[in-house]
Amino acid sequence: MSIEREAREAVVRTAVQLADQGYLAGVGGNLALRIDAERIAVTPSASDYYAMSADDICVLRLADLKQLSGHGKPSVESGLHARMFKARPDCRASVHTHQPVASAFTLLDRPLPVSDAEARQRIGGDVPVCAYAPSGTGWLASNVGKCVRRDLNAYLMRNHGAVCLGATLEDACRVVQLLEQEAIAWFQRALATQPENRAFRHALAALNS
Ligand SMILES: [Zn+2]
Repeated sequence: MSIEREAREAVVRTAVQLADQGYLAGVGGNLALRIDAERIAVTPSASDYYAMSADDICVLRLADLKQLSGHGKPSVESGLHARMFKARPDCRASVHTHQPVASAFTLLDRPLPVSDAEARQRIGGDVPVCAYAPSGTGWLASNVGKCVRRDLNAYLMRNHGAVCLGATLEDACRVVQLLEQEAIAWFQRALATQPENRAFRHALAALNS
């Protein structure tokens, strides 16, 4: 199997796993995998992850996002993923989620402290909230790009969601899980000190919805 085919299939598998775990919130979220130095594979725009096939995955040239192959229209966040790959040559995977509790945390506009040992090791430190910009804009890619550090694999986007990076798709997905756990732990601690806070309770209720 060609490396392009392998990448397409890995992206489909991972998108379904993330959707199963509730991290993509319907057709929200998207992901990208570096195929080689020149090409990336990206999920198609607003697609049903359960109906998507490897042929729907878009292959783009990293340098200018020109679509080289794939039936779908590339995700509106392709520019965001490209920005991540250019800033982080060590990463092959970039996953943008609308994961429920970490996304709720972005409304607070404050960095998420990371305390668990594995989370600290895999995420790299406390997670910043990048400034708000509308989805799918170069402005959003630029705001997240300004936050990117070589030693940090998770970024929150104000009033929106998260971007998680990894050397592999598996690594990036583990960062997604750990980020969600840290956000849950933050709200649980916050609720313990302010049990009447409806916003905190509402954030955790997203888990069961
Ligand atoms: Zn989004």
